[in-house]
Amino acid sequence: MAEVGVLWDIDDTLFDYSGAERAAILEHLDALGMLAEFDSPQRAHELWSGDVEAVYERFLAGELGFQEQRRVRVALFLGRIGRTAEDPDAWFAGYLDAFTRHRRVFDDVIPALDALPGYRHGLLSNSSSRYQEDKLTAIGLRDRFSSLVCSDEIGHAKPAPEAFWAGCAALGLPPEQVVYVGDKLTTDARGALAAGLRAVWLDRRGLGGGGEVLRIDTLADLPELLRVIDFGASATVL
Ligand SMILES: [Mg+2]
Repeated sequence: MAEVGVLWDIDDTLFDYSGAERAAILEHLDALGMLAEFDSPQRAHELWSGDVEAVYERFLAGELGFQEQRRVRVALFLGRIGRTAEDPDAWFAGYLDAFTRHRRVFDDVIPALDALPGYRHGLLSNSSSRYQEDKLTAIGLRDRFSSLVCSDEIGHAKPAPEAFWAGCAALGLPPEQVVYVGDKLTTDARGALAAGLRAVWLDRRGLGGGGEVLRIDTLADLPELLRVIDFGASATVL
């Protein structure tokens, strides 16, 4: 059997990004006495999270630097309650401090990695490599992966095929011998398929659908799925 690699997305796949984001923005707003200015904590989180998505697109497109997109996010978010930050970097640093305290790895990650010792494991993320390197080290995951490729250093972001090819090259394997695992159907799974990789959509929220894409809702199901793929079964058999 040819050697097989698993290329992993990081945020909301290995690392509970959304959980840390929610806890951190609510804690930060509460500490600043600003939480009551939003309709509800849920709404405050929705607004913060929505702004992140919109501004992050501009970062991925190369329009904004990593620190700059943070400043833009703060300005946009506070503008919604008619406020401005005197020092956006300090405001974001306060948020980041709370975020750091709430960082955690999903419970199904370590058991899944432990169950897949015969595979080469690498990482591919639409983010900043320095930021992801530091975060993965802090949460104790970095040593589990032989490579880390981020969009800021390669100049291509998922779902562009070049991003997936760079991830495969760093793993030292051709795309057809690599399975991509990620939480976003279009950016991760469909992008990986189009680039010639195998793809597994980790549908943690149980959205369902996905058509031709292999879907699991927990990483506990990944080892069995990979065993079937390795033995050459066609995806439609699953
Ligand atoms: Mg993700």
